[in-house]
Amino acid sequence: MTFWRIILARRVVIVGAGIMGLLTARWLAAEGVEVVLLDKQQAGKEASWAGGGIVSPLYPWRYHQAVTQLVQWSQAYYPELAALLNEETGIDPEYCQTGLVMSGVDDLELLEGWCKQHHRRYSKVDGAQIRDIIPGSGVESGYFMPDIANIRNPRLLQALLVYCRQSEHITLLENTQLLDVQQRLCGGVTARINTSQLECDNLVFCTGAWTRQVLQQWWDTPINIEPVKGQMIVLDGRQVGLSTMLLHKGRYLIPRKDGKILVGSTLEHNGFDKQTTKQAKESLLDDAIAMLPALASCEVLHHWAGLRPGSHEGIPYISSLPGKPDIFVNAGHYRNGLVLAPAATKLLTNLLLKQAPIVPQQDYSI
Ligand SMILES: Cc1cc2nc3c(=O)[nH]c(=O)nc-3n(C[C@H](O)[C@H](O)[C@H](O)COP(=O)(O)OP(=O)(O)OC[C@H]3O[C@@H](n4cnc5c(N)ncnc54)[C@H](O)[C@@H]3O)c2cc1C
Repeated sequence: MTFWRIILARRVVIVGAGIMGLLTARWLAAEGVEVVLLDKQQAGKEASWAGGGIVSPLYPWRYHQAVTQLVQWSQAYYPELAALLNEETGIDPEYCQTGLVMSGVDDLELLEGWCKQHHRRYSKVDGAQIRDIIPGSGVESGYFMPDIANIRNPRLLQALLVYCRQSEHITLLENTQLLDVQQRLCGGVTARINTSQLECDNLVFCTGAWTRQVLQQWWDTPINIEPVKGQMIVLDGRQVGLSTMLLHKGRYLIPRKDGKILVGSTLEHNGFDKQTTKQAKESLLDDAIAMLPALASCEVLHHWAGLRPGSHEGIPYISSLPGKPDIFVNAGHYRNGLVLAPAATKLLTNLLLKQAPIVPQQDYSI
């Protein structure tokens, strides 16, 4: 039985084991595809780990419909995904519908119109109402969107890694470089890694901020993805007891179940530099304290940076490469890769297996 499965099954090599690579592997394995998932370093340690895990764009009404339709599919699926992973791996990704208070928004008409069009609950809140939701908040007016959730992304990645390691369909190869790619004349692809060759039907690049540079090694592909650095800090907020997310002028607080509070984030165009800076740490802390003065007495536990895969309007490429129907890319999710991941990877799976797509694909083609 196993012999025939291996001989007959479609074989796919995925390059890059962030949220995109891991979830693509999961969808494909569920369809009986044999997957080899490789990463040049330890899996799940780049942007997908560094992000905040808000299951929504920060200002959803400012995005193109191409982003919104993927966001909506993902938001509907996230509770089920988190529950399934918890059941299958024993690791709870901590999907929490905490709601989000946003203030300092100046395009109110657009916000209200978007919420009505997409049937999103929202209410206008003044300072007193905000303090009912977030005791001690220093913010005086805004909007409350009670349905917005967050997920603890490092735990989500851990659960997906356990799932991949347990799956009989998935081989995970860490610290493994893709050295060469040859398209076979009869169809399919030969991928050379270390000392071996992998024969496969399809190759998928989920290489995040590195995608343009990775593809450039072999092809002149018109893909425009640039790294955009984001720094974050996490505070020990146990004595503060924050239970709702707060967004003010681009800076945000995300509560975790164990009382930690994440503060994000900077937007920096510095190439592939991932250094953290004292200036960013101070600025994040100052903004956090302005939003919630009680945070002044909280210890900063950690400070880190990650590289977002920046793309035009944050619209990802989910597509085969021009003239190369066996080679696919799923990258460029910019600030929203965690919320977009379930839908973006499902769509990629649809394209690869020639299934009816969950949403129209043309907006994501190269
Ligand atoms: C500070 C910050 C906050 C964020 N907050 C949120 C948020 O709240 N909500 C949200 O939805 N999104 C958020 N994001 C965005 C989100 O994290 C990213 O869009 C998403 O993680 C991208 O996933 P990915 O799998 O494409 O990339 P990555 O997670 O970066 O994974 C790419 C993988 O490819 C591997 N790789 C690269 N080159 C090669 C190669 N040549 N060979 C093999 N492997 C290779 C890398 O090692 C890496 O493991 C945030 C990002 C940051 C930095």
